[in-house]
Amino acid sequence: MTKLAPVLSAHWDEKDSFTLEGYKRHGGYKAAEKALAMDPDAVIQLVKDSGLRGRGGAGFPTGMKWGFIPQGDNKDHYLVVNADESEPGTCKDMPLLMANPHVLVEGCIIACHAIRAKHAFIYIRGEVTHVARRMNQAIADAYAAGILGNGIDVVLHVGAGAYICGEETALLDSLEGFRGQPRLRPPFPAIAGLYARPTVVNNVESISAVPAIVMNGAEWYQSMGTEKSKGTTLYSLSGHVANPGQFEAPLGITLREILELAGGVRPGHKLKFWTPGGSSTPLFTDAHLDVPLDYEGVAAAGSMLGTKALQIFDETTCVVRAVLRWTEFYKHESCGKCTPCREGTWWLVQILRDLEEGKGTEADLAKLLDLCDNIMGRSFCALGDGATSPITSSIKYFRDEYIAHLTNGACPFDPVASTLFVGAGA
Ligand code: SF4
Repeated sequence: MTKLAPVLSAHWDEKDSFTLEGYKRHGGYKAAEKALAMDPDAVIQLVKDSGLRGRGGAGFPTGMKWGFIPQGDNKDHYLVVNADESEPGTCKDMPLLMANPHVLVEGCIIACHAIRAKHAFIYIRGEVTHVARRMNQAIADAYAAGILGNGIDVVLHVGAGAYICGEETALLDSLEGFRGQPRLRPPFPAIAGLYARPTVVNNVESISAVPAIVMNGAEWYQSMGTEKSKGTTLYSLSGHVANPGQFEAPLGITLREILELAGGVRPGHKLKFWTPGGSSTPLFTDAHLDVPLDYEGVAAAGSMLGTKALQIFDETTCVVRAVLRWTEFYKHESCGKCTPCREGTWWLVQILRDLEEGKGTEADLAKLLDLCDNIMGRSFCALGDGATSPITSSIKYFRDEYIAHLTNGACPFDPVASTLFVGAGA
């Protein structure tokens, strides 16, 4: 059985893991001391050499992103940490911040030093009040201990709760006090980001991985993971599993191995479909249990690693209903800036709702795919594209189930409306 590799989550089971004392007991803030004594460019090179890639979804090399910040330009630089975690199924950054907020503070200090920034902003969702309180306490404790405030400041900004504010440029607009909507690129944030100044936007997990890299070196980090996907990462297992939760493992582990560690699909049931990286990534089925969960492996199998949110659904789940729920989410969260997404997600919901109720014809399936085709690649940001992924992939793997809704005149999983009930207990 593949072993877990706790780095970020190494001390989460200790009662005081979230306190300054608990963090320092395991060498906390020693990496910041070490990094501050290094030349900033050397820190960037170290992170480049480690192979760390962005853990927010895109997988862009973190050190390379830092290297894009122009140096010697006499402008303020900013670090912005994206803690606006809100993709359905994604639940790694909030547990990380609850268990160990100081690792993010330390990562911010190191990253600010590397990109020659004096200010870091952590943008967190408004709904997660308990996490914001914990983060604020950690920041306050770091100031009181003289760790912050000596040339580097960290500010926590609580957002109002919009999925689109997880898109980095919408996040920057929101942080500046505007309505959160994506910006046209170029210019990219590295040139004109927050307040039109050079800005690095990184995910919580990416920045939190940095202290261990500084302490243990690039080679150590490179020794874990696969050829192009280095290090460990947090896989969030949810849904119909015996023991859902966070599983930190080297990149490249398979779902079969993670399920073994989690006690498998809930007793008496079998895997039907799953998401490798949240609801905006194309679905997988039981045929994909051995796909290496790294950036390349998942892409080669036709999906995306995304946020590594592994949502597990067993045979009692109606895939059409699950996809409808996700699509309703994307329609609700569409920011309205561009027509393909604003209008398209509305129509996707109408057609899917009819199909789920067993209304319509097979021609509606073709219409649904045509709509997806008109949204995919024609939307202003990734939300539009992401909204189509569960639909197109579910039709690819479960077309028969869509047809069964139509021939049945109702959802086959609905025990009241269906005469062909195939759901739980059937
Ligand atoms: Fe807004 Fe959707 Fe267009 Fe993105 S794709 S800009 S969320 S309307």
